[in-house]
Amino acid sequence: MDAPAHLPPPPAIADDWALFLDVDGTLLAIAGTPDAVRVPPGLIDALASLQQRLDGALALVSGRRLAQLDALFAPLKLPAAGLHGLERRHADNHIDPPTPPSLLAVFHRKAELVAERYPGALVEDKDSTIALHWRGNPHAEQALRELSEAALPWLHDYRLQPGDGVIEVRPVGTDKGDAIAALLDEAPFAGRHAVFVGDDLTDEHGFEVVLDRGGMAVLVGNRQPSRARHRLHDPAAVLAWLAAGA
Ligand SMILES: [Mg+2]
Repeated sequence: MDAPAHLPPPPAIADDWALFLDVDGTLLAIAGTPDAVRVPPGLIDALASLQQRLDGALALVSGRRLAQLDALFAPLKLPAAGLHGLERRHADNHIDPPTPPSLLAVFHRKAELVAERYPGALVEDKDSTIALHWRGNPHAEQALRELSEAALPWLHDYRLQPGDGVIEVRPVGTDKGDAIAALLDEAPFAGRHAVFVGDDLTDEHGFEVVLDRGGMAVLVGNRQPSRARHRLHDPAAVLAWLAAGA
């Protein structure tokens, strides 16, 4: 694979695209905490114009919840996959909600009891997904990892998704690739040239899906290795590219 720095920028946005956009690290610069992100001036206008230009075939694909996406991008309520695809809002505005299993509540309580022993550790409840954060106290890492691994046999339809300073316990069969594939099966996305723009490891599932369908994967930043064949330097470059196509 080419080094990311040598990948060319994507071509100008075309009318027949279905455009899928990751949020954090792609549209918004990463901040110290998820709540501290800022929406740059011009982004919401560019997204609104592009949504019209693409006849609605523009969707957000994020690890955040739909409610958080709506708050960030108000007044827009874009088609979106939240929680890596667990929550989905279709172009006709209807939402498939997640179903929280009761066993996950038990796991959640156990995780809180562990986190209470490590000030700074955090248990984040995202309904069907639980994120255990140790960025605020690295000493909690081992205990939180062990707890998650021990829980897997009884949370049999869940899996672990490790991240940077965090481990997420989330249902099997929901990743950004699944989410994009599902949207590409329905109007107004079906039959269009699929393009996904994303920055991190979880976006590779989405890259795989769009490339398999003859589409285009655009990496934001320098992470490697990546399947992407196009690259934009950072969220500011993504905004400039979107605004030029709006
Ligand atoms: Mg991202």
